[in-house]
This record gives sequence, structure tokens and C-alpha cells, in this order.
Amino acid sequence: MLKFVDRPQSYPAKREATERAADFHEIAERYAAPAAEDQAGRCSQCGVPYCSVHCPLHNHIPDWLRLTAEGRLREAYELSNATSTMPEICGRICPQDRLCEGNCVIEFSGHGAVTIGSVEKFITDTAWAEGWVEPLVPGAARGQSVGVIGAGPAGLTAAEYLRAQGYDVHVYDRHDRAGGLLTYGIPGFKLEKPVVMRRVDRLKAGGIVFHEAFEVGRDATLDDLRARHDALLIATGVYKARAIEVDGSDVPGVIAALDYLTASNRKSFGDAVPAFEDGSLNAAGKNVVVIGGGDTAMDCVRTAIRQGAASVKCLYRRDRANMPGSQREVANAEEEGVEFVWLSAPAAFAGNDRVTSVRANRMRLGAADASGRRAPEVDPGAAEDMPADLVIKALGFDAEELPHLWDAPELGVTRWGTVLVDSKTLMTSLDGVFAAGDIVRGASLVVWAIRDGRDVAATMHKYLKAKAEAAKVAA
Ligand code: FAD
Ligand code: SF4
Ligand code: SF4
Repeated sequence: MLKFVDRPQSYPAKREATERAADFHEIAERYAAPAAEDQAGRCSQCGVPYCSVHCPLHNHIPDWLRLTAEGRLREAYELSNATSTMPEICGRICPQDRLCEGNCVIEFSGHGAVTIGSVEKFITDTAWAEGWVEPLVPGAARGQSVGVIGAGPAGLTAAEYLRAQGYDVHVYDRHDRAGGLLTYGIPGFKLEKPVVMRRVDRLKAGGIVFHEAFEVGRDATLDDLRARHDALLIATGVYKARAIEVDGSDVPGVIAALDYLTASNRKSFGDAVPAFEDGSLNAAGKNVVVIGGGDTAMDCVRTAIRQGAASVKCLYRRDRANMPGSQREVANAEEEGVEFVWLSAPAAFAGNDRVTSVRANRMRLGAADASGRRAPEVDPGAAEDMPADLVIKALGFDAEELPHLWDAPELGVTRWGTVLVDSKTLMTSLDGVFAAGDIVRGASLVVWAIRDGRDVAATMHKYLKAKAEAAKVAA
């Protein structure tokens, strides 16, 4: 250990930009075992590990790094698995520069953080390859049943822990495949789909019952499901796309980011997608303009490159330093041929039957707003027109109106539409109905959804045990 001075930081090599832009496979090579062990050996085994403090799961990072450095990979896997249901997924897609690695003391000392995420991914990928990943074994049957609405990382995590406690677990999702945004939002070049599907298959094999293509609000009301189960979890994420209020927003060819990404992910599964086949959701040969500066916008621009767009521009109203998306992703996109137009926002989309161009205002940064960020304002007289055959709106997501959609007016929500929960029990305003993940926090991260799923499984278990005790006393 402690080799951070002599041994430089080294991430797994990225494939050449031209090669990776031609497919949807992940862009980084995998560590070979000696490289992972070497990199793990750079950790200085801090007494107070800030990496773990800033990991939402509080993973035992220094401990599994030490085991990896010593070549004890199976033990490293078991320890990393003890606090996370999807370590190899977090190792791939957490914004480590803002979480564990961004808070590694070696980073502060100027030697470059320990490459925690890449080591985490290496350990669990090795465990899958070696057959060390144990099946999900249900606990002794308790005779109580739980319904989970939403098969994203929050719902799947809660389902796994509750099944292990011996509950009958039913997961409902409106999509035909489980995984939530891991499956249909995040593209394969960040997270290959078989990596998600093997997790889902493990849960199915462990006896969790999946009701796919089942939409609450259409196929059942919340009350129907409350009557079927002893407790319910709402883990439905946030899906109401933020609108762009400018002329021409509804011209054909101006499309929503998630429709575009879902179509592309479906193609990766080999599905027939008519709106992709007819060109509506396909960037091939087109001048593409993506509006937004977050992770969703980054995923759209890089998807468009891979589909063979003629050109790809990303318009963002602030500058590079003030964008919400990861700087790592911007660098990847630039390498692959995306042009970023900073300080630029759409004023109108032109075209009759189809969009033909975007009129963009130049922006400048004014005074700081309540959040401390400098608010963008229009720089008068500096608009420009840019040709566009496809415009993708990627401005982020808000919560859908669940009380209305689910005929459940008594379900308490915040003024942003996210579901209100008690901070200790994680229960909503309805007895026995809990909530977790983005639908509580607003759009967030996979690792926070997993953390919430873990926490809510514990409070639901407590609630269900008390319910069973009360039933025994009453009998
Ligand atoms: P979701 O993953 O959204 O899952 C919710 C599930 O509920 C979905 O499967 C949905 O179909 C289902 N559902 C919704 N309504 C109903 C209903 N009425 N009936 C039945 N089922 C329903 N985070 C990162 O950490 N790293 C990244 O790189 C990253 N990239 C992202 C890229 C994109 C394009 C997007 C949109 C998000 C990204 N995120 C990323 C954020 C991350 O994906 C989410 O924070 C996370 O998936 C939230 O998990 P969840 O379980 O709360 O909800
Ligand atoms: Fe880092 Fe995410 Fe892994 Fe935590 S879960 S150690 S934040 S990569
Ligand atoms: Fe190791 Fe960095 Fe964590 Fe310290 S902060 S324990 S050096 S990974």
C-alpha cells in the first residue's frame, strides 16, 4: 500500500475515439489483474477515509482496496458486495470525480486519486466471471407480501433486500424490461445492457415476481395494489420532461431526449422500433442539435455520433465551468466529434413540416442567483442560425403528478410533485406505502437510488414485523 508517489495514477485505457464512436460498447478497456492490484496499492489506508464518507453507500473502500492489492479478490468482492447491490454498475457510472475519487486525500496531495470506481468494477466483473456471485437466497417465508412499483435501481435494491428477509416480493413496471433508466435511459457505451440484465435475472431466479408492462394508473390503482400487499414501495423515478417555451417547439423533428435514448437502447436489444426505422428517432445523416448541459444531453450527443449524424452540436446556456454534466463526459464527447456551443440558448426552431434550423441567442453570465450560480441572460443582438434536421430537448425531468394519475389524492407530494416521506420511516402519507429514489429526491444518481432502496428496505422490514406481531396479538 501507500505507493501513490512512485506509482502514477492509471485508469483503464480508453479505446480510440474513432473506433468507439462506431459502436455502443463501453469505451474503456478492463484492467488486467496486475494493473488493478497495482492501482489499489496506491491507497494510503486513511484512518478517516474521506472516500467512504463521500460515497453515498459508505462503501468500505480502503478495506477492499487493501484486499485487492494483496490479490485476495474474492474477499474484496464479498466486502464490496456487502454494502451495495450493484457495485459493478456504480463502478461504471458513478460520477466518481464528485464522490469517492474527488474526495480521496491523494487527489488533494496532487498525485491523482486512487482509481476507486475502476477497481470496484474490476472486482465485481471478476466475481461474475469466476462464479463468485451467489444466487439470491430468500429467507424463511414470512407469509407477508410486498409490492414494489418501479424496477429501477431503487426498486430493485429494496426488492432484493426484502426477498432476502423472506417476503414475497412483486415488482411492477410499465416497461417490458426491468432496470429503469439503467436499461432504457443510460446508453450502452456507459453501461452495457447485459451487465444490467444479469442483475435482473439473478433477482428473478431468487423468486422475485416481475410484472412487466404493468402500469400503475392504467392497469391498477394504488388502492388496488394496497389491497394486494402488506406494504408497498413507490420507486417510479421522475419522467416529466422539462419543456422549452420557444416558437417551433412542436415542429416535427424536435424530440424529447428520453424518447430518443429509449429508442436507441431498444435497438441495442434488437427490438423493432418503428419510430427509429422511419427516421423520426434516428440521427443517421442528420445535423443534430442537442439542448442542455446535463448527463442526459451528454448521452444524447454521444448516441447521435454513434448513429452516424452528419454533425452534432450541444447548446448550453452557461459556460463549461458551470455546466451540471460531468467534465469527463464532455471530454469524451469532444474526442468523439461533438461541438459544444457554450453560452447559447434556443430562441426558436424554424421549419414547417420538419425542423430546418435553430435560432440561438448568445448568452452571458449575470449576477449570482439564490443558489450562488451566475444566472444566464440574453446578450442582445447576437443571435445566430444553425442548420438542424433533428433537435433533441434534454433539459431535465420533474415528477409526474402521481396523486392525479393514480387516483390517490391523499398521497402527499411536495410543490415539485416529488412524493413526501417521513424522514425516519420513509413512509408516505398513506399507511404502509413507502417511497424511495428519484421520486422522493428529484432527478439524482443511481448510487443514491441504491442507498435509498437499502434504507427503505430496512424501514419496511421494521413496519412489516410490527404488523405481523400486531396480527398475532389480535388473533
Ligand atoms: P428509475 O431508474 O427512473 O426507475 C423507475 C422505474 O419506474 C422505471 O422503470 C419506470 O418505467 C417505472 N415506472 C414509472 N412509473 C410507473 C408506473 N406508473 N407504473 C409502473 N412502473 C412505473 N445517474 C448516474 O449515477 N450516473 C449516470 O451516468 C447517469 N446517467 C443518466 C443518464 C440519463 C439519460 C438519465 C435520464 C439519468 C441518468 N442518471 C445517471 C440518473 C439515474 O439514472 C437515476 O437517478 C436513477 O435511475 C433513479 O433510480 P430510480 O430507481 O429512482 O428510478
Ligand atoms: Fe465511488 Fe460510487 Fe463506488 Fe461509492 S458506489 S465507491 S461513490 S463508485
Ligand atoms: Fe485510500 Fe484515498 Fe480513501 Fe484515503 S481517501 S482511504 S487514500 S482511497
